[in-house]
Amino acid sequence: MIYIFCAPSGSGKSTMVKHLLNEYPGQFELSVSCTTRAPRGEEVNGREYYFISVEEFQQRIAGDEFIEYEQVYEGLYYGTLKAEIERIEQAGHQVLFDVDVKGGLNLKRILGDRALSVFICPPSVEELRRRLVGRGDTSAEMIEKRLAKAEYEMSFKPQFDRVIVNDDLPDAFAQLDAIINECGK
Ligand code: ADP
Ligand code: 5GP
Repeated sequence: MIYIFCAPSGSGKSTMVKHLLNEYPGQFELSVSCTTRAPRGEEVNGREYYFISVEEFQQRIAGDEFIEYEQVYEGLYYGTLKAEIERIEQAGHQVLFDVDVKGGLNLKRILGDRALSVFICPPSVEELRRRLVGRGDTSAEMIEKRLAKAEYEMSFKPQFDRVIVNDDLPDAFAQLDAIINECGK
């Protein structure tokens, strides 16, 4: 089973993915996307993302190398390479995706029963703001752009296979563990 995590920025996708990587060692691997945005904080090329130029991104689109890609924010492209999924599956690991809402629904459409789409729901937009500010790695302007998009992204929630409400963190991890126990490999 491939797990696709989607949510407005700041809802806790990375936190959920980290939980799976820590709690189930050797079982999962996060698909590393390409992006045209600059690295943030401690991010390392090839670990959080493949940080590439707009020109290289466009060349890879022309070469049909992406299973999906989106312009998630104005001028910023994000996409998943087909080769990335092959790499992870050949290593004998289950693929985890942390992608935007539209990209996630596209991946689910393409992958069908091989994948489970999971929406991470924040308790409120105000709490999202607090978390993004608290994370301390995103500019005020980018935080406002992300919050402006959050309500729109929330409207896609009913289209997902499962929803995790990420209010109390231990409770959110318990919801995630229950999904893994149910849907597993
Ligand atoms: P995303 O990957 O969806 O953008 P993150 O996982 O980076 O979101 O979470 C955003 C911030 O909120 C991080 O600083 C994270 O530690 C914090 N966070 C995540 N879940 C919770 C929670 N349940 N309660 C409080 N803070 C949280
Ligand atoms: P960030 O800039 O905070 O790392 O990511 C911004 C948004 O882009 C997040 O919602 C993240 O899940 C999404 N994203 C990351 N990689 C991909 C990808 O390969 N495809 C799509 N469609 N969205 C992605």
